[in-house]
Amino acid sequence: MIALVGNQNSGKTTLFNLLTGTQQKVGNWPGVTLERKVGKIKSTDHEIVDLPGVYSLSAYSSEETISRDYLLNDRPNLIINVLDVTQLERSLYLTMQLIDLKIPMIITLNMKDLADKKGIVIDLDKLNEILKYPVLEISALKKTGVDELVNLIENAKKITPVEIKYFSEDIEDALSKISKKVNHKSKRFIASKLLEDDLLIKEYETDEIKSIREDFVNTHNYQMDEQIAHERYNFIEKIKKEAVTYNENFYKESITRKIDKIVLNRFLAIPIFILIMTAIYYLSAGVVGGYTVGLIEGIFESISSSAETWLESVGASPWSISLVVNGVIGGVGAVLGFVPQLLILFLLISLLEASGYMSRIAFTLDQVFRKVSLSGKSIIPFILGIGCSVPAIMATKTIDDEQEKEMTIYLAPFIPCNAKLPIIALFAGYFFPNNRGLITVSFYFMSIVVIGLLAFILKKLAFKKTSTGYISELPTYKLPSARYVTRDVLGKIWSFIKRAGTIVLLSSIIIWFLASFTWSFSYTTDPSRSILRTFGDILAPIFYPIIGNLNWGASVSAIQGLVAKENVVSTMGIIANLTAEAVEALGSDPTPEALRALFGSEANTLFSTFTGLSAFSFMTFNLFSAPCFGAIGAMRDAFGSTKKMWLAVILQTGFAWLLAAAIYGIGSLIGVLIA
Ligand code: GDP
Ligand code: MG
Repeated sequence: MIALVGNQNSGKTTLFNLLTGTQQKVGNWPGVTLERKVGKIKSTDHEIVDLPGVYSLSAYSSEETISRDYLLNDRPNLIINVLDVTQLERSLYLTMQLIDLKIPMIITLNMKDLADKKGIVIDLDKLNEILKYPVLEISALKKTGVDELVNLIENAKKITPVEIKYFSEDIEDALSKISKKVNHKSKRFIASKLLEDDLLIKEYETDEIKSIREDFVNTHNYQMDEQIAHERYNFIEKIKKEAVTYNENFYKESITRKIDKIVLNRFLAIPIFILIMTAIYYLSAGVVGGYTVGLIEGIFESISSSAETWLESVGASPWSISLVVNGVIGGVGAVLGFVPQLLILFLLISLLEASGYMSRIAFTLDQVFRKVSLSGKSIIPFILGIGCSVPAIMATKTIDDEQEKEMTIYLAPFIPCNAKLPIIALFAGYFFPNNRGLITVSFYFMSIVVIGLLAFILKKLAFKKTSTGYISELPTYKLPSARYVTRDVLGKIWSFIKRAGTIVLLSSIIIWFLASFTWSFSYTTDPSRSILRTFGDILAPIFYPIIGNLNWGASVSAIQGLVAKENVVSTMGIIANLTAEAVEALGSDPTPEALRALFGSEANTLFSTFTGLSAFSFMTFNLFSAPCFGAIGAMRDAFGSTKKMWLAVILQTGFAWLLAAAIYGIGSLIGVLIA
């Protein structure tokens, strides 16, 4: 019989299963409820038993009693000592006792995969020289080195019991005196236990032995069991000095551990995360965003005005000028205006990802997120979502679990992206000029609540399976590689631009056509006569519960939002009879005064139909309804299914409608009650 012996969690059972395959019998050890597994090593006749995990061969627990009794009384022909090589000190403490048993042994250093990762390097020849038994490294989990182990087992006859005198001279002396009087094959081990005065081994104690021990104890001022343990550890220290070295991975690991003490700290992890995110948001949407959006807008303005001048000079018709200026340059330019701030956002996120920080946040949030069928990895899409839903949806591909991935695709567009901010700026600036910041924050907050709520509902309704793939391994921190970051950022930006050039361009032209032509296909600059107005009228009843009146302009604006969300703003401006210049002059971050001056003009019948409440609920609808066409296309790609894409669009829009209607309804009710 071969016995697997080792600490708890050293990988004995994993190795046992690997060696025996299906050829195993599972029962209980006599008198206890501990599992006893016996089997035959695949394609051999060797029987093998998986002993309970122990740290020493005392008899303080039932595991120890069973293992010790088995080794002393049943005496297997061979011990396979399984060590967790990342816990070498603790593991060798047991090995030293096993050596004292004088049973042939193979010393198996398990978890080689982890040792490699942690930079622990074992000099196997040296270890073999010291411990005399064959030593090898394996990974039971990754199934490496197991053939070599089976080979050693096949040739186990060549392994003879060894004796290593590792105690100090006087103890060795006493041990040899006692062991001469013991009639057992494991003399040395029993002698050591007798010297310790181990009560459970008293059956071997004779008067002679007793007097040897008492003599020894009287001449030495030792607590015997402590001294023996102490000397074993001294010897292990020596082994480690000679046979264990550490490579650069170890130092990276230890730096990582130090950083993680802070970053993964139970109380600090989330505040640090929020701090970092605020900084990222401030940098991308705030500083860089504010500056560059204006800059790019300026560039596109000059492009469209020179295009306009040129087209006029060659005598192009007004509708073709409008096609180029509003349909093409307007639509695509609106989207491309976000490139600089997305570049910053992608760059910062990519740096955090490549450094190893993002994995930690994913790890921290994993348990919470999993309760609602999301993965810790969903956090990256959600963060990217504050920039743009397109890269956010694309980033879901790193989520392994299909269900968690789909949930994330459904929910990521609920994060208010940069393009939705002008909507908030417009309405909040006009209706809540003194509380604009508060309104903006309330929408971010609402989006988190909405995502949590929807995740919960979706899990209850559709995604029932509980998933298993917990994040367990964290990479070490490292300096991000410039190549990786560059490729990552440019890849994301490029796919964003590609969408602007395809889906957004096409949809922008279609919507432009609907907004610029009447049913008799004559060109018009008055949206109220356009084809789109008919759509607006048809959809107006749907918006009734949200804004409390039939307003074709509002529904047309929402449709325009499908091209790019900030188009809601320019459409409202156009419908409100503002000149294009006036709307452009507002910029992306208009002051409340400018808004009032413009939208408060008497020409504006559109805005006057809104109240603070309906403005809020209309914003809610626009912020949480289906994203723009670009993001809808990204959803299709990510799902790999047009059907699921439609489902998501309907779900998102439906939910946004319910939420907006609820806000308006409840708000109106409160208004009535107060009045
Ligand atoms: P036992 O208590 O000694 O029976 O240990 P198990 O076989 O139950 O293994 C304990 C844990 O260690 C399990 O989660 C295993 O998947 C894991 N494990 C076992 N061998 C290896 C290995 O070689 N590498 C790694 N990374 N993990 C391992
Ligand atoms: Mg086990």
